Amino acid sequence: MYNENAWKKYDEKELKDLFKFNDEYIEFISNNKTEREVTKASVEILKKNGYKNLDDVTSLKAGDKIYAVNRGKNVAAFIIGKEDIEKGINVLGAHIDSPRIDLKQNPLYESSDFAYFDTHYYGGIVKYQWVARPLAIHGVVCKKDGSIVDVVIGEDDNDPVVMISDLLPHLAQDKNVKPGTKVIEGEDLDLTIGHMPLKDEEKDAVKANVLKLLKDKYGIEENDFVSSELEIVPQGKARSLGLDSSMVLGYGHDDRVCAYTSLRAVLDTESVNRTSCAVLVDKEEIGSVGATGAQSKWFSNVISEIINKMKNNYNDLMLQHTLTNSYMLSSDVSAAFDPLYPSVFEKKNAAYLGHGLTFNKYTGARGKSGCNDASPEFIAKIRNIMDNANVSYQTAELGRVDQGGGGTIAYILSNLNMNVIDAGIPVISMHAPCETVSKVDVYEAYKGYIEFIKNIA
Ligand code: MN
Ligand code: MN
Repeated sequence: MYNENAWKKYDEKELKDLFKFNDEYIEFISNNKTEREVTKASVEILKKNGYKNLDDVTSLKAGDKIYAVNRGKNVAAFIIGKEDIEKGINVLGAHIDSPRIDLKQNPLYESSDFAYFDTHYYGGIVKYQWVARPLAIHGVVCKKDGSIVDVVIGEDDNDPVVMISDLLPHLAQDKNVKPGTKVIEGEDLDLTIGHMPLKDEEKDAVKANVLKLLKDKYGIEENDFVSSELEIVPQGKARSLGLDSSMVLGYGHDDRVCAYTSLRAVLDTESVNRTSCAVLVDKEEIGSVGATGAQSKWFSNVISEIINKMKNNYNDLMLQHTLTNSYMLSSDVSAAFDPLYPSVFEKKNAAYLGHGLTFNKYTGARGKSGCNDASPEFIAKIRNIMDNANVSYQTAELGRVDQGGGGTIAYILSNLNMNVIDAGIPVISMHAPCETVSKVDVYEAYKGYIEFIKNIA
């Protein structure tokens, strides 16, 4: 069903399944807000469903289910297919990092009886959206002795939260005439973390008190921040949105909404003809760089391992054949048409909330620059699969020509010579602390992903 409102086709029973699936999604993103947490939770779910660690198996055959993890920040789940792997694999790829605020290496300071954490934002945040709201701290502190302290502060009802202060309107005359990008500047995103002095301490007594608390509760010293990875995210759970509960309001739908639906698509598929996988990567929001980003060799190395364990034999040609014959959905969110801001969209080629899984033939900016432009041959195959299964889908591009732009991991995997197209869920208020998706799009994407891995060839 191409570009129609997907809600209309649902009967009461199907609606029940749709809402149940979304309840499970809401729970997942409420509990797992960082790439590490998503990886950890995914591995737990995979193990529960009988998936084995690739490192722990010596040979692979059709029907086997395995997973691989990279540095606690990437996870890939595979169902081994009946067909020779060199005929290609079917891939769902999403990213599990979201825009946020990170602590600096040397973050802690005191000023006028307040203790602060200094920060550096991660990804494309709209800075003025992050002030004067409850925030939580998620991450790890790695100590010199090799131990790792897991930190989550602000999510339990009994936890305190942190926040970034904002100026009162009564004194904002100068601030109010600044352009949006300057209203709150990067160096002003400092977190208020305390204001009670340690007794009998002369200098920086508030900071000293914070350090004492960290030492008592977590065994952390000030220098341990150098080897920490502490991420500041919006506090609290995702919620149903709208009086009809038709949408989900939550942090980081970009891109955990595609990550969760991709993972579930693989989990809920019993057997496949072609080896199929969901791969969840990190660092998309800052260019997919580094060992845990999509540009890393990790994913193709995992495929090499699988080829070797299937065939008890390996050479580079086998890998190249496999990649060349593979099909992938780069499952990433799409900008949804917002009726409050119609001027930045071109209405015939915008994604609409509730119209289903969204295919972006290309992303990029300024003349498609930097994008993966999917082939029409591939798109025709996808249309056939989606129509046969009555999956609701639409096509879109990111806003008006020359209004802006963006990228995903699509071009990176297509550089391996795979067939790749962007296919994701439309989002309102993308990159805001609270983003919005439609429950029907979440469910249609999940169904579309299942049809894709079962049928594309
Ligand atoms: Mn994204
Ligand atoms: Mn993004």
